[in-house]
Amino acid sequence: MNQHNPVTADVSARAPMIDPFGRMVSYLRVSVTDRCDFRCTYCMAEHMTFLPKRDLLTLEELDRLCSAFIAKGVKKLRLTGGEPLVRKNIMYLIRELGKKVHSGELEELTLTTNGSNLERFAPELADAGIRRINVSVDTLDPAKFREITRLGDLDKVLAGIEAAQKAGIRVKLNAVALKGFNEQEIPDMIAWAHGRGMDMTLIETMPMGEIEEDRTDQYLPLSQVRADLSERFTLTDIPFRTGGPARYVDVKETGGRLGFITPMTHNFCESCNRVRLTCTGTLYMCLGQNDAADLRSVLRESDDPAVLSAAIDEAILRKPKGHDFIIDRDHKRPAVARHMSVTGG
Ligand code: SAM
Ligand code: SF4
Repeated sequence: MNQHNPVTADVSARAPMIDPFGRMVSYLRVSVTDRCDFRCTYCMAEHMTFLPKRDLLTLEELDRLCSAFIAKGVKKLRLTGGEPLVRKNIMYLIRELGKKVHSGELEELTLTTNGSNLERFAPELADAGIRRINVSVDTLDPAKFREITRLGDLDKVLAGIEAAQKAGIRVKLNAVALKGFNEQEIPDMIAWAHGRGMDMTLIETMPMGEIEEDRTDQYLPLSQVRADLSERFTLTDIPFRTGGPARYVDVKETGGRLGFITPMTHNFCESCNRVRLTCTGTLYMCLGQNDAADLRSVLRESDDPAVLSAAIDEAILRKPKGHDFIIDRDHKRPAVARHMSVTGG
């Protein structure tokens, strides 16, 4: 077949990824590790069993997989986790992928991080071609920060944000809206972020993985947050997009942008352009569904780009229409058993 013909093999390895609903896949999120130095209460259980190291793809294999996706039309690639900056030698992968930003093959290489190691990595990240990152901060109160992350040190994260900005990286703050935890603080966090030149995005908790807490107690619909915010701020919908699922408003009083990621109250699946790769080479076509494709065995069985490309095409044809997240008293079990740290947020 076309494996033996270099011309047709190259054409097939570059075929764009279009799913059964006509959505073009141009955004890849890669969870480079399921490990983390925090244990945020809505994300992980206190005592987690992480994947054995032998199951992980090497960074070279991750690079090969990412490159296959880039050849097939991925323009934006986000490294996430777990905590991407705790993966040993992660700068190797970031530098390799950064070369594709410099060559123009990739429009954007970005990172979602908890910021704990950002101070150390910021200059290298900027140098490798990262222009923009998301840093997750759910509260600006150091004691509450320790409580929600179980292990985190807010000062270190804030120093990381400062270092990133100093290195010329644009920072967006991500905060999960949590009932009874940060709902009162959200307006001040917005003013704080906007005052430092950062956009901010609020996220609804998603029912992923077993945790100690009851998700019904944590869940705060962003429709309600937005209504509350409207009493203090003038919010105007704007068409600004970053390629992700956030929908943005302009905040008149602060002059900054605020994003809402609302998988629960407003499903954004119709415009989904993303797939997610785990550190074991499993491809999830939807964050909220269990169907997945094992690309690790394909990668290890053949060096032929056409074989890998065919496996990716086959997976994309199974991309579902959307997720089925529900959080209420009748749905005690998570919608999917894996934690967010497996597929990456
Ligand atoms: N460790 C990095 C961090 O915290 O930014 C990257 C991985 S983390 C899984 C990515 C994002 O997912 C974070 O902003 C986190 O707050 C969010 N997240 C984790 N679990 C979630 C859940 N169950 N529902 C909604 N967001 C979640
Ligand atoms: Fe770690 Fe990020 Fe999950 Fe917090 S949200 S436990 S920082 S992976």
